[in-house]
Formats: sequence, C-alpha cells, structure tokens
Amino acid sequence: MGSTLAISDLWAMKTNPKFIFFTDFDGTITLQDSNDYMTDNIGYGPEKRKQANRDTLEGRVAFRDTFQDMMDSITLPYPECIQFLVDHIQLDPHFKEFFEWSLQNNVPVVVLSGGMEPIIEALFEALIGPDAKKMQIIGNRVRARPGKTLEEDRGWVIEFRHPESGHGHDKSVALRQYSSLPEDIRPTMFYAGDGVSDLSAAKETDLLFAKKGKDLVSYCVRENVPFTVFEDWSSILATTKDIVNGKISVQDAARQGHEAFMVGKTSLEHETKTVK
Ligand SMILES: [Mg+2]
Repeated sequence: MGSTLAISDLWAMKTNPKFIFFTDFDGTITLQDSNDYMTDNIGYGPEKRKQANRDTLEGRVAFRDTFQDMMDSITLPYPECIQFLVDHIQLDPHFKEFFEWSLQNNVPVVVLSGGMEPIIEALFEALIGPDAKKMQIIGNRVRARPGKTLEEDRGWVIEFRHPESGHGHDKSVALRQYSSLPEDIRPTMFYAGDGVSDLSAAKETDLLFAKKGKDLVSYCVRENVPFTVFEDWSSILATTKDIVNGKISVQDAARQGHEAFMVGKTSLEHETKTVK
C-alpha cells in the first residue's frame, strides 16, 4: 500500500526492454497539431491562437491556461470534434514503419501528450488500426460540463492530468518513474518532440530527437541540452536501429547530432554574410 511504484506497475517495463521510446504526439507523430487545427477551424481562429502561443513562449501565460481558453472556444460536441480531426489530420508517413519495427524489437512506445487522450486514441485507431493499442498513451482527459453530456454543444471540458502544473500535463512525471530506476535495470530512454512542453521531458532521457525548424531546437541550443535533429520518422528509425543494433552508442549519436546541427548553423550564417 506504500506510494513507491513497483517495476511491475510501469507499463513499458512489462517486457524487460533495454530501450523505451517516449514521444510527443501533436506535430511530432502528426503532420499538423490537432489542437491548433481545431482552434483555427472550429474555435476562436488562427490570429488569436498564434498570439496565445507567443504569449506562452515568452512566459507571459501558462500553457495550461491558453490551452484551456482555446478548447473552451470550441463549441462542437466532442464526437464531432473527433470526427473532424480524423478527417483532416495526417500522421508522419514513416511513423507506422517505425512503430512496426518497435513492436518486433521490444522497444515499447509511450506517447506523452499535452493534448487529450480520446482524440489521440481515435486518430491512431483510424490511421494505424488495432495495433495502436500496443502503445501507451498518457495525456489529458475530457469530461462533460456540469448538467451536460459530451454529445451536446459546449458539452465538454478538458481535464488536466496535472492541474497544479503550468504544463497541464507535466511529461517529466512519467519519465522520472523510469529514469529513477536502478542503473542495472533502467532501459535507455529515447524521446522525440517538437515544442516547448517537451523541454522538461528532454532532460530526463538519454537521446532527444528534436524536429527540424521547431521551437524545441532553439530551446535545446539555449539550454545546452544535447539533441539530434529529425525531419521525419525515417531518420528516427535509422538512428534508433543503429543504437539498438550496437552500431553506435547513444552518447555518440547525441554528440554527432549536435555537431551536425552546429555545422549546419554556422555554414548558414556564413552564407548569409557572404550574400550581404
Ligand atoms: Mg508537439
């Protein structure tokens, strides 16, 4: 009855893996951010949404509060929101191949999302099929507003996993359950992400894949967090395979990724100066 978690309580430890792949969902596995997409098209619109994102990035408002406002601006019943997203959101074309490889190689996949679990489950079900149940999805939930049902207009409200946290869902909580395991059983931990909510996660894992051109890259540079850049899941799969097969160490992959980024950045600056 104690509060200490047993290893058997940790979903991804059930198969005694040597590696676990944690990942963000929106904008990392999907090509579009599903929450931004809803806000822009059936909520208060892109202009207000972009301003809210800037306010969050610059630390003026907590992510949790801007996200709550965005979701509150959507009036459609919940099942219609889900269908709208199933009709419009696409997965990275290489994610499915990565996922199939992970199932064959005992690399459990845990999705850590700042979005809502029912939406992620529905998108996976539609785009990957029943195998998607072999991933663990940890995000926020949704509940009916008092006196209403999810099927009514303005009938639902987001329920944050960690309402006390400015992130709404603090991804580092789940990660720490694994990163704090004794060294002889702690698996190597990968993480893929694209946004600011992923930075707290980044510091808990062994190798961070940060999506090219997105906020997470500039944050990692500023905070000196080792990372490697990815464009899509084919490069994540290639690097993960090399590490799992022992061709490269996780430390070398992180160093090479960072060096490649710095070289790219330097040559870009040089070109800019030459043009001037
Ligand atoms: Mg994201």
